[in-house]
Amino acid sequence: MDVRGSDYGPRRAGAYPGYTRPSARQFRFRRAVVLVAVLSLVALIAGCLGRSGPAPVPLGVAWVFSPASNTVTIRVTSQAGPAGRQVLAQSRLAVSENGSGHTGRWSAAGGTVRVPVPAGGRTSLLVKLTGPQQLTRTLKVSAPQAPRIVASGASTGRWLVYTSDPLRAGPPQVLCGTDQVSMVAPSQVAVSESATACQTQLQLTAQNGERATVPVTIPALPEAKAKAHAVKVAKLYCFANPAGRAIYITIDDGWTPSAEVLTLMHQTYLPITAFLIAEAADEHLSYWKAFVAAGGMIGDHTVSHPYLTKLTLAKATSQWGQARKALGRWLGQTPVVGRPPYGAFDRKVEVAAARGGLTALAGWSATMSGNRIQTWNGKPLSPGEIVILHWVPGLGHQLTVLLAAIRALHLNPTPLTPASFSGIAPQQHSLNGD
Ligand SMILES: [Zn+2]
Repeated sequence: MDVRGSDYGPRRAGAYPGYTRPSARQFRFRRAVVLVAVLSLVALIAGCLGRSGPAPVPLGVAWVFSPASNTVTIRVTSQAGPAGRQVLAQSRLAVSENGSGHTGRWSAAGGTVRVPVPAGGRTSLLVKLTGPQQLTRTLKVSAPQAPRIVASGASTGRWLVYTSDPLRAGPPQVLCGTDQVSMVAPSQVAVSESATACQTQLQLTAQNGERATVPVTIPALPEAKAKAHAVKVAKLYCFANPAGRAIYITIDDGWTPSAEVLTLMHQTYLPITAFLIAEAADEHLSYWKAFVAAGGMIGDHTVSHPYLTKLTLAKATSQWGQARKALGRWLGQTPVVGRPPYGAFDRKVEVAAARGGLTALAGWSATMSGNRIQTWNGKPLSPGEIVILHWVPGLGHQLTVLLAAIRALHLNPTPLTPASFSGIAPQQHSLNGD
């Protein structure tokens, strides 16, 4: 049999039995199916590769406790640059307290969480990061005790509060009345003096930052009551402290300055107080500056030397206050002691002096008439006496006579200050003189 017969000749497609050549439409369909399969495979492989992806970025948990608010601020951090930031941006932070499993707080994407914790206790916080990378941490937070009042009581007209912890000085608080709260000691606060009972709240800030608002009840304090009704006065004294055989030399008015006095002051330390009328002082300012430079002291003898008892309180106050300010401005030494013209004073004059800024008023117990010293009781000068002279022609000679008597009596000229009147009884009645 000839196998090379026509049966072995080149075959044309479709020539096999049972095989039907696909139409052009069928062919396109099959080709599309194969293409989709191949593409799916590629996508699958790419997906697998993507999931195994880049290596995990290092993450850390940072937290800080704020004692002022008793809160813990928790944040997840990464040093991994853009990759870390991307992980954090896709993550959320959840914090649950004391392992309760109950999630207390959630952060926004990559954000921070603030969790309140109780003062004076230890809190365990479970921190969980969910997202592309998981992270779990447990934080143990101890919050100090909030300051509290442990005792309170009245002391010298004030209500004192003792606290459990040393406090930090805070902004001024006013509780009852108008007096500010002041710190007496680190854990001792003087709350307002109160003439009436009151209930209020005191803000405490401990040195460790813990804060508390505590209720305080301030009872009516009798001393505060008395003080509320007290009017400030500058009392008048005709004697001063006799300690050290002290004697006090005062010279009034100031219309006629004395070169001899200045010479005496340069020769020996002579603490003279010049009670100056502001209008008189104004005429010889360079002299009074030299007087101050030589150790002299300036007192307030009003602006224009009126009878203060005949003025209104407002006018008397202005006589004291304006002279005091002007003398201070001109001479660099602001008077704190005044002397009423003519020795005329009453309670109104004393109140006016206090309102004008003076602390005390000085009268006198001895004068000089010509070259004779006249004491209040006719006896020789004794320690604690205040001698009055005037800036008049002949003053230099008078002062020389006075100093000789002072030396003979072993008395010591002493500066006249408000402290000189400490423990001395104030004068009750007006004096005669000018
Ligand atoms: Zn006078």
